[in-house]
Amino acid sequence: MVRAIVGANWGDEGKGKITDMLAAKADIIVRFQGGSNAGHTIINNYGKFALHLLPSGVFYDHTTSIIGNGVALNIPYLIKEIDEIVKKGVPRPKVLVSDRAQLLMPYHILQDTYEEARLAGKAYGSTKSGIAPFYSDKFAKIGIQVSELFDDEILEEKVEKLCTLKNIMFKHLYNMPEIDKDELLNTLHEYRDMVEPFVCDVSAYLYKAIKEGKNILLEGQLGSLKDPDHGIYPMVTSSSTLAAYGAIGAGIAPYEIKEITTVVKAYSSAVGAGEFVSEIEDEAAADELRIRGGDGGEFGATTGRPRRMGWFDAVASRYGVRIQGTTEVALTVLDVLGYLDEIPVCVGYDINGEITKDFPTTNKLKLAKPVYEYLPGWKCDIRGIKKYEELPENCRKYIEFIEKELEVPVKLLSNGPGRDDIIYR
Ligand code: GDP
Repeated sequence: MVRAIVGANWGDEGKGKITDMLAAKADIIVRFQGGSNAGHTIINNYGKFALHLLPSGVFYDHTTSIIGNGVALNIPYLIKEIDEIVKKGVPRPKVLVSDRAQLLMPYHILQDTYEEARLAGKAYGSTKSGIAPFYSDKFAKIGIQVSELFDDEILEEKVEKLCTLKNIMFKHLYNMPEIDKDELLNTLHEYRDMVEPFVCDVSAYLYKAIKEGKNILLEGQLGSLKDPDHGIYPMVTSSSTLAAYGAIGAGIAPYEIKEITTVVKAYSSAVGAGEFVSEIEDEAAADELRIRGGDGGEFGATTGRPRRMGWFDAVASRYGVRIQGTTEVALTVLDVLGYLDEIPVCVGYDINGEITKDFPTTNKLKLAKPVYEYLPGWKCDIRGIKKYEELPENCRKYIEFIEKELEVPVKLLSNGPGRDDIIYR
């Protein structure tokens, strides 16, 4: 059975924690998109980890961790991440890398950095991990596939072609040093040797695994609102964040994805620029939620940047849940809200005096003002509670209110960052 675990919001919903938890009963966990640009924070019996490229199921002995063809593969980063968790006492994970995954190269990172500097104030808030140049190159057909590392003739041709293009840009647009072809070839040979032990025909591997009835998790990065088609374009990421893309980025049939667990945050947070209707304007109130949020504050797992904070946005979340094709919702960080007397929930957008509950395109989103309803808080710590009925009444009312707005059953409730901080409903 294949289950996708994806985000409904702007990312940082807690997908890592939910994946780590569900991986206890899974055989295979697959990353199908994105790269090392966003992080997942996981807390378990080995300690606290910020994973960027490895799937969040790597902490178990019984799981196989897969980097699918849809991922932007930074090879030295992958090796470093494996070494780091092993150093912290985690058993050496079984990792497979798709022979169709493409390589994120140092020149992608340089290009990202140069472009952000060129755009200065108008930048997209990139994490400068090279993700946008990587995916641009993939679709411009000058990317390098893992399989091509093992064919010197193809590799040399590729390097020739891409250096011609990149160097015009580096020299004339950015005024920066050109890429040296020989150096690049050397780097690629090093990468070939590093990745060789992991290379696999992942699509064939998963086809067989599905036939054998294995439990497979597809772990998404970021969330619905960062999807390049359905998100807040252009303030989006460069690969699809939707469960549907899980089929493509892993190389499986779309109808094999039977369950879609969409992770929704009980309040909102976002990193980088972009439309964010329910953002908290009062600085002190935003600071308070940021400091209490997540595990030890809402700061980016990759960049350490303070996240922008907002109240729960039912309009954006219902849309985010729908566009994922959600079969069940996991509602996270509920415990964080225990300090509030009343909790604002954005239930509509006011766009030029008209109230809508439908998430609009970005040009209209810019005009949207939040319409709030206020729910009573529960004013206590709910960590450690294991049964839904034991939650305070106002907390249950908050959950049930959100469930009604989302129009999909909320089956998992996360009331703390740890593996066991979970309530099944
Ligand atoms: P991901 O990218 O979706 O995996 O999310 P991140 O790991 O970037 O952000 C989630 C943050 O919230 C991490 O610091 C988690 O440890 C933390 N977290 C996850 N679930 C909960 C929860 O229910 N309560 C609290 N307090 N923190 C949580």
